[in-house]
Formats: sequence, C-alpha cells, structure tokens
Amino acid sequence: MMTVCDLDKCAGCMLCLDVCKKQAINVVDNLISYNAVIDEDKCVNCNACHNKCPQNHAPEKVQPKVWYQGWNRDADARENAPSGGIGMALTKQFIKDGGYVASCLFKNGEFCFDVTNDINEAMKFGGSKYVKSNPVGIYSKVLDLLKAGEKVLFIGLPCQVAAIKNYTGERYAENLYLVDLICHGTPSPKILDSFLNQYSKALKSINDIRFRIKTKMQLVVDGKGIVCKGVSDKYTIAFLNGVIYTNNCYSCQFASGDRVSDITIGDSWGNQLDGEENRKGISLMVVQTERGEELLNQADIELRSVDVEIARNNNEQLVRPMTKPESAYGFYDGLEKKGFNRVIFSSYTKDCIKQDIKHFLIKLGLAH
Ligand SMILES: Cc1cc2nc3c(=O)[nH]c(=O)nc-3n(C[C@H](O)[C@H](O)[C@H](O)COP(=O)(O)OP(=O)(O)OC[C@H]3O[C@@H](n4cnc5c(N)ncnc54)[C@H](O)[C@@H]3O)c2cc1C
Repeated sequence: MMTVCDLDKCAGCMLCLDVCKKQAINVVDNLISYNAVIDEDKCVNCNACHNKCPQNHAPEKVQPKVWYQGWNRDADARENAPSGGIGMALTKQFIKDGGYVASCLFKNGEFCFDVTNDINEAMKFGGSKYVKSNPVGIYSKVLDLLKAGEKVLFIGLPCQVAAIKNYTGERYAENLYLVDLICHGTPSPKILDSFLNQYSKALKSINDIRFRIKTKMQLVVDGKGIVCKGVSDKYTIAFLNGVIYTNNCYSCQFASGDRVSDITIGDSWGNQLDGEENRKGISLMVVQTERGEELLNQADIELRSVDVEIARNNNEQLVRPMTKPESAYGFYDGLEKKGFNRVIFSSYTKDCIKQDIKHFLIKLGLAH
C-alpha cells in the first residue's frame, strides 16, 4: 500500500486531496488512525502530495514573543463562547477590516470548513469541536482568494494551519493570517458517532452539537445535555483522558513550544484571576509574530498579562504531545465487544461513578 506519509502518521488534514490533480488519493479512517492511500493506477508520480504534506515537510515554527490572557469585550459573545471568545473576536474584526475568515463549522452531520466575508455566516464557526474536523476543499478556496489579492484569516488545529501554510507557500504569506488552537488531540468523528448511537442519535440526524459549557465539559446535542445538563458523559471523559485520539496525535510535531501560527489560542488554565471572570471564560493567547499582536490589539479583546510558567505548566500541549494512556490500547477492541460507555466505565470507573452520582443528585434536585 502506497501512502502519502508514513503509515498511521496521517493527521487527516486532507491537504493531499486538494493537491492531487488525478484524484488518486483516498483518506482511509479506521478509527485508530488515518492513512492517505494512493491509487497506483491513477498516480503519475508527480510527488506533489508527498512534498506538500506537513507530516513529511513541517513548515517553519516560530518561538512565542509575548503571552496574554483575556476575553472578548462583547459580553454576549464571551458568554456563548467555549472559552474567552477570542476566535470570534478576531473573526469579527478581520471581516470588518475587509478580509475573509476560513474555519470550521458543524453542518449536515459533518465538521467541515468554509470561508466567508459575511459576519453572520462567520459566527457559525464559533465553538470548540472536540473531534477531527475535515478541511477538504478549503485549501484551494483560500489560495484562490489570496491570488485575487484578498486577506484571509485561517483558524484551525495546528496540523491544519501547517497544511494551509504548505499549500499556499511563501508567495502569498503576506495576506494569510494564521491562528491555531492549543490541541490535546482529536478523535475520528466516527468515534463520536458510535458514542451518540448509544442514545439513538447520529451525527447525520442532529442540527447542533456543543462540547462544553465554559469549563463544564460535556456534550450538548440540539440544546440538551446528552446525559443531563452539568454531567460529563463518557465521550468527554474519554476525550479528556486522551483515550480516543488517532495515533498520529500522540507524536504530533505541532504540540510544542514553537508554533506554526501568528497566534495560538486556548484556555488560560491555572490563572490567578477572580472566580467570576473564570466563570465567564478566560482565554490564553500565545503570540508569535508582530502582525499577530496587531490583530489582537485591533480586535475588541481585553488583554491582560499572564504568568507564562503557570500557563505553560497547565497546558502540556504547549510543550509536548499527549502520551498515549494504557487504556487507549484496549479501547477499540472493547468498543467492538462491549460498546463505548461500558469500555470507558471499566477504564475510568471512579470518574464515571462520580458523574453518575452527580446525575442522580441533579435528578433529585439536590445539585445542579
Ligand atoms: C480538539 C481540540 C482540542 C483542544 N485542546 C486544548 C487544550 O488542550 N488546552 C487548551 O487550552 N485549549 C484547547 N483547545 C482550545 C479550546 O477548547 C478553545 O477552542 C479555544 O480556547 C478557543 O476558544 P474561544 O472561546 O476563543 O472560541 P471561539 O471564539 O468560539 O473560536 C473557536 C475557533 O476555533 C475553531 N475550531 C473549534 N474546533 C475546531 C476543530 N475541531 N477544528 C478546527 N477548528 C476548530 C472554530 O471554528 C472557531 O474559529 C482545544 C480545541 C480543540 C478543538
């Protein structure tokens, strides 16, 4: 089998699908890993896919120059955001200033990408999707806009930011602004689907899905907590413990101190600000470039200083990729034999019982 990058190392950025002029590549998702498989009958050995793939050729990474914590000054936007609403504050300002924004949204059962200069459309990008999103097709759309002289802000996972950088190249770098997320790792959306199936739901049949309400991590599907409001489900427990990521995530070359973007955004875990500000959401912003700092200053963002050591110590993926836990090795076998919830219950019994008790107390009206 001929693959674009080393076996089981594919990040699922889908760049090779946009690059290949012969439609010779098929990205195979077997839950444990993705592989970009080349059809040797169609391939003309041009090597474009190998050369652009960020797993084979990582773009230059830059050392952070300044760190901030803060939030979107628009109180409603901050309230509705997973963290401090920095992604949407940057998006709004960039479009106001005449640019386009490319990012991820949930549509027709898929975590896909779009690019727009319409603020209302762009607000659909908001929210953290704790799953591997699919940027197929976005790279060529962004390049077309750059070729037409437009400015584009791309917000995505670090591997996707590396991909857009490789695709568009140095020639168009001046008009392409890059924001990546601090990323724990990502599971295939098929894993999420198999979790939802236990509740007679499927990605294809729902309109909306949220992965957290501020610091409360839980799945909310079409406005309802999958277990109940305030209780973490077993997908969330599996995600936070790093059980379900595809194999490449555990050796991710972009989970590091030096970054591929102008700005990296995440949560300001471990911050010393007061409880009420924490309830409203506080983001961490790691700035690599001067133009990244300009974007933050122009947007409607409250910027505060942050203790870099505390921020780094509370966000391991600003140093190294997550270590694959022991429980991940038996997960896929267990998934087939016992089903999602039972396999996670047997690995994380204490965490699960804690949430079950919380659920029980909420039902009795003794907790919320
Ligand atoms: C898989 C994943 C793992 C993460 N791990 C960590 C972590 O370990 N530590 C940490 O501090 N923060 C982590 N984050 C980031 C954090 O959850 C918030 O997404 C981030 O702080 C932005 O919050 P915000 O309030 O600014 O969001 P918003 O203002 O709503 O902006 C969020 C932006 O991120 C984009 N986005 C969200 N999910 C995806 C996705 N799956 N693929 C591509 N783009 C996406 C949205 O489309 C939007 O443009 C992770 C995010 C994801 C998606």
